[in-house]
Amino acid sequence: MPDLQTLLAQSAALHNHLCPRQVLGVQMGIYAGELLELDLPQRDKRLYALIETDGCFADGVAVASGCWLGRRTMRLLDYGKVAVTFYDSLTERAVRLAPRPEIRERAVALLPQAESRWHAQLHAYQQLSRPELFKAQFVSLSLDMQALISRPGARVTCARCGEEILNEREVLLNGEVVCRSCAGDAYYSVLCAADAYAD
Ligand SMILES: [Zn+2]
Ligand SMILES: [Zn+2]
Repeated sequence: MPDLQTLLAQSAALHNHLCPRQVLGVQMGIYAGELLELDLPQRDKRLYALIETDGCFADGVAVASGCWLGRRTMRLLDYGKVAVTFYDSLTERAVRLAPRPEIRERAVALLPQAESRWHAQLHAYQQLSRPELFKAQFVSLSLDMQALISRPGARVTCARCGEEILNEREVLLNGEVVCRSCAGDAYYSVLCAADAYAD
């Protein structure tokens, strides 16, 4: 596994700066490799990261674990927490990591001469051990990972809007295969066409 500083540099390059939450994300990815005994960052799709908020820490998690939204191995389950569950699809073991509530104060206590609390956290999160930083629990998932992952090539067309639906996200409505939006679960409503192309 690449060392902490290498991973932080990669995360910072992706993110345009280094911040405390990225450090937490990178540390979480490294810790997952240790706890699940995996060689990370992965090059394949064995490990999944279920992140509980978006933002800075997600980039650190991705760099250190090799779980990426673009590879379908990172999923956002928005609970508004800087926490992540790593799921090993081979062994079906899952470990959830969440920052210990006291780490902000510990950071300031560790580096009282830091320029600001932010700087204290940025540096202390690189110095504290991973067990000091995170609560780690092996967990059993109550969501259906197989359904979440689905299968490559699963693809149908919505009977109403004609758009393509991947990964078995279609629903059956009155005998018709439709997308979630056409089934009434849309997160938008159409105002009008945005171009003059007639279809
Ligand atoms: Zn940031
Ligand atoms: Zn549709």
